[in-house]
Amino acid sequence: MREEEVEIAIKVVVVGNGAVGKSSMIQRYCKGIFTKDYKKTIGVDFLERQIEVNNEEVRLMLWDTAGQEEFDAITKAYYRGAQACVLAFSVVDRDSFEAIESWKRKVEAEVGEISMVIVQNKIDMIDEALIQPEEAEALAKKLRLRFYNTSVKENINVDEVFRYLTEKYLEKL
Ligand code: GDP
Repeated sequence: MREEEVEIAIKVVVVGNGAVGKSSMIQRYCKGIFTKDYKKTIGVDFLERQIEVNNEEVRLMLWDTAGQEEFDAITKAYYRGAQACVLAFSVVDRDSFEAIESWKRKVEAEVGEISMVIVQNKIDMIDEALIQPEEAEALAKKLRLRFYNTSVKENINVDEVFRYLTEKYLEKL
């Protein structure tokens, strides 16, 4: 598929507390790699990957906050024009789970209602889980969002998350 044949490009933001695996997820999805000590590069705005969904070639641009998630002025610029969003937390970080609703509100305050999905990452560490499965399901139900368990490390469900978001976005076109 030549570049000029791609007509649909989607800006996807991956949000959530620090260290839940957002950068790792973007690296995994776009580059196929996982490293334990991946260094965030401030200034690299996004990585991209092209996929085919419903016979359409779609370019996904995945935006990374590069560890600046505490700074509202930076994240606001980062959300601008986003058409889809991953709300990410980690199964071994209780605070990150409790922050999901506030991340959703922050994104919606900037860009309104867009396609979203909740992701519980680090599922390979389920033995040390600090969130019960019912709690995660209840949150997803309350926010009326699809919920995925992922392991960026073991490459579980990462492709599925972005495929789902793309399908959901295309449905609304
Ligand atoms: P960010 O701050 O949300 O972007 O998080 P990072 O992508 O920098 O990841 C934080 C740490 O968690 C890094 O050491 C990653 O290697 C690690 N990590 C990311 N995803 C997973 C996963 O699925 N399983 C495990 N065990 N570690 C992960």
